[in-house]
Amino acid sequence: MILDGSTAFKNQELEVDYCIIGSGSGGAYAAKLLSLKGYKVAVVEEGGYKKTEDFKELREDVAYPNLYQELASRKTKDKNISILQGRTVGGGTTVNWTTCFRTPSNTLKYWQDEFDLPFTDESLETHFLAAEKEISVSEWEVPPNQNNSVLANGLDKLGKSFGHIKRNVKGCYNLGYCGVGCATGAKQSQMITSIPTFLKMDGILATRWRAFRFRHHLGKVTKLEAYNMPGIGNTHGDIKLIIKAKHFISSAGAIGTPALLLRSHIHDQSGLLGKRTFLHPTVLSGAVFNDDIEPHLGAPQTIYSDHHLWQDYGFKLEVPPVHPLLLASTLMSHGDEHRELMLKLKNLQVCIALQRDGFKDDSQGGVVELTNGGYPVLDYTWSKSMALGFKEALRTMGELQFAAGAKEVLPIHVRAKRVSNLIDFYSHIDELEMKPIDLKVVSAHVMGGACFGIDKSSSVTDIHGRLWGYENLSVMDGSLFPTSIGANPMLSILGHVHRIFS
Ligand SMILES: Cc1cc2nc3c(=O)[nH]c(=O)nc-3n(C[C@H](O)[C@H](O)[C@H](O)COP(=O)(O)OP(=O)(O)OC[C@H]3O[C@@H](n4cnc5c(N)ncnc54)[C@H](O)[C@@H]3O)c2cc1C
Repeated sequence: MILDGSTAFKNQELEVDYCIIGSGSGGAYAAKLLSLKGYKVAVVEEGGYKKTEDFKELREDVAYPNLYQELASRKTKDKNISILQGRTVGGGTTVNWTTCFRTPSNTLKYWQDEFDLPFTDESLETHFLAAEKEISVSEWEVPPNQNNSVLANGLDKLGKSFGHIKRNVKGCYNLGYCGVGCATGAKQSQMITSIPTFLKMDGILATRWRAFRFRHHLGKVTKLEAYNMPGIGNTHGDIKLIIKAKHFISSAGAIGTPALLLRSHIHDQSGLLGKRTFLHPTVLSGAVFNDDIEPHLGAPQTIYSDHHLWQDYGFKLEVPPVHPLLLASTLMSHGDEHRELMLKLKNLQVCIALQRDGFKDDSQGGVVELTNGGYPVLDYTWSKSMALGFKEALRTMGELQFAAGAKEVLPIHVRAKRVSNLIDFYSHIDELEMKPIDLKVVSAHVMGGACFGIDKSSSVTDIHGRLWGYENLSVMDGSLFPTSIGANPMLSILGHVHRIFS
């Protein structure tokens, strides 16, 4: 049953076994697994229920306001970092780029050493296998598009390692518009996999309702209060949905889950709730080629490199899909220069470097705070060492772009100019300060803020995602991670949800 909050006109009340907030990687998969066990489950999702047929027009201007958190304009508190998160049924999985990685062994080893977490490649094997089956992860046999080929060619010429990305698609048409919702239904997002099964099992999908707060007493949550979302904007209405349940699961995503728990004044003995929120802060390098690149066409991410990932403040190299709106809002130029670059879209190649944050004393992530209205805002700043990591990443990307035949390279930075040879490029990179606002930093991977652990003084939940001190409240989403993953996080989230229910 679908309960659409956008057309609600009176307060409503429900009673179920499990109430799950958020229908993304964590929430939808949890809803399916619990429904299959025979429980009555309600999922509360503040986004709308858009389906494959709604994505046919491949339009960025429709997708961003409808499918993304804060209409795709979420930023950190100081406006330095742009954050992309899904806000629709399926959450991030409906709009993501279908890149599938397990949690790297080095990350698990770090978690064992630093946090005594008991996870290993072996102990997670069955859970990753189940998650990969759930979303049909497989090798991508089609040759990479030019945007990805440049990454491979440049790294190859420099003798650096790279690999091919597995994807969660079935019968993909190789269109390249995953970020505006898959127009063919090939992407095995939670909207395609878990949600239909959950609905078939009599699940209640309450869309366009914002979970506002839990009411609780003596370590037991008694009900959830949600409000209707009448329009596509960010404000909620005043019509209430009350849900009583035996157990509540917050899967509102990193930022969303800590915000809900903070609004609810959930007692957190560790003092870590909302803290250590990670972003894989990402810097970008553009390059102009004589040949057509057409970076908007073809599977968005098929090549990656971990060559620099495990160095201090290391980074993973990938490429993004480049569509006009995304490009226009990411470039830091203006006037004629901006126009000229936009006209070169066909010949533009873009690399991204995702920094592995959370592994150093001066890389402790950001803090989720609440505005007076209870709305979340992430306070995230970067340290001098992280800034050096950004500089190293920009240098690395420019080098490989020149090695692959770029005519000009443009680090995405407000003071950067296009340079046409490596010597000028090196001195230009040396001059650029990796300062907030000047340097473009983006994120599509928000993690942490309600970390799991083995001890209530140093974690928000136990390793099963249960809030310490609460008998019927859990977290199941990317906010559980105690550092960033060092790889695209979707599969790690699904793997842990499967582990928790096993
Ligand atoms: C453009 C883009 C590309 C990406 N590409 C990849 C990729 O290729 N591979 C990969 O592994 N990862 C990728 N990611 C990241 C990945 O999709 C996310 O890390 C993952 O989906 C997070 O899962 P989650 O369960 O933590 O939260 P989400 O999937 O974000 O789901 C949370 C849901 O909760 C809802 N919600 C939040 N607050 C409330 C509230 N108060 N009440 C009700 N509902 C609420 C949100 O609307 C959302 O639908 C990408 C993300 C984006 C945005």
